[in-house]
Amino acid sequence: MSSDPRGRPTTRSGADGPSETSGRAGRRAPSPSAGRDHHGSHRHGHDRRGGRGVDLLAALAEDWKVPDELPREATIDEVVTEDATKEIETALHATETVERRQYAESEYQAACRDRVAFAERHEYAPHNYTEKTVAFVEHDVASKPCPDCNGGQTVTCPECHDGRVNCPQCGGDGIRDCDCADGTVACGACDGHGEVHANSGPADCANCGGDGTFRCPTCDGQSRFQCPDCAGDGRQQCPVCEGSAEVECDTCEAEGHVYEAKAGSVDYTIEEDVTAAADTLPIERVERAAGRRSDETTHTFDPPIEGGRGVIRRTVETFTIPGTKVDYTFEGTSYDLYEIDGERVVPDHPQSVYREYAPFVAVGVTVMLFAWVLFA
Ligand SMILES: [Zn+2]
Ligand SMILES: [Zn+2]
Ligand SMILES: [Zn+2]
Ligand SMILES: [Zn+2]
Ligand SMILES: [Zn+2]
Repeated sequence: MSSDPRGRPTTRSGADGPSETSGRAGRRAPSPSAGRDHHGSHRHGHDRRGGRGVDLLAALAEDWKVPDELPREATIDEVVTEDATKEIETALHATETVERRQYAESEYQAACRDRVAFAERHEYAPHNYTEKTVAFVEHDVASKPCPDCNGGQTVTCPECHDGRVNCPQCGGDGIRDCDCADGTVACGACDGHGEVHANSGPADCANCGGDGTFRCPTCDGQSRFQCPDCAGDGRQQCPVCEGSAEVECDTCEAEGHVYEAKAGSVDYTIEEDVTAAADTLPIERVERAAGRRSDETTHTFDPPIEGGRGVIRRTVETFTIPGTKVDYTFEGTSYDLYEIDGERVVPDHPQSVYREYAPFVAVGVTVMLFAWVLFA
């Protein structure tokens, strides 16, 4: 296959800001095939005699909260039918992160097993709108001498210069201060007092001859002594390199060579955007309605430049949402009633007498229930 990732037979576009080739002016612009007839994007029908309006009011009046006489007594001021439109734009984004990194041989083999080839990474893009991450690495790169050890497989010990380190016990001095501080230790028999309380009264301690202390055996009375761990040298063999001053190179795992390859991932994510256009119907209800799909167009775009981000596929579905708006007046108040995609939408309506009395009925029923519970 071609090594040029941009050489795919898709709709040509800019790398970072793909633009569609079909001439669509804006998101709300109708597509030519979406089937509109006259004045702009909507078909209107005005029906002042109110046949459809009466039907909708009759259906509304079946609700107990709405007065039964509504369809007979309401004045229908206007009935407007409209085909509103909704567009769902779904975009598949590709976001790539890529770096050049060095692998030891076993790491590189594992990476090539687990990751797709860099040159073929775009072939693993999802064919539908699903989110996915594709990890890749450049396959089949040649090894090169390890830059850290120059192929020598070892590097200078990070802990020492010459295979030796300062003695941790004496800090490199070769001499340690004694715990006794002044070169003496207290006599254990008299607790350092020099006298004991025998039955016959205070007497010199027989153990220390009345001195109370002995010369410290650890430092021989010097308060300091030669460090036994390093024999006074202050230095010891480095425990990390065991005196060799060299350790195995981590970068190449002591192989002497590495594989330098581009590695990274492409994240495919989905963004969806819903927009609706209506003259008389409430927009938020049009956005929620399913409607009838009247058009669908899909454009594909080249993958983003290496390490970049861009839209690689965009589908715009256009839906027609049929609706009716009824303006009516009941007992001097104006109301709106809608039917949108076959569903009734009632922002406000006249209240039935039952509805007005409902709170009192509820209280009355509660009181009777209490009475029944208390006195039955
Ligand atoms: Zn190395
Ligand atoms: Zn003593
Ligand atoms: Zn001492
Ligand atoms: Zn020491
Ligand atoms: Zn060392």
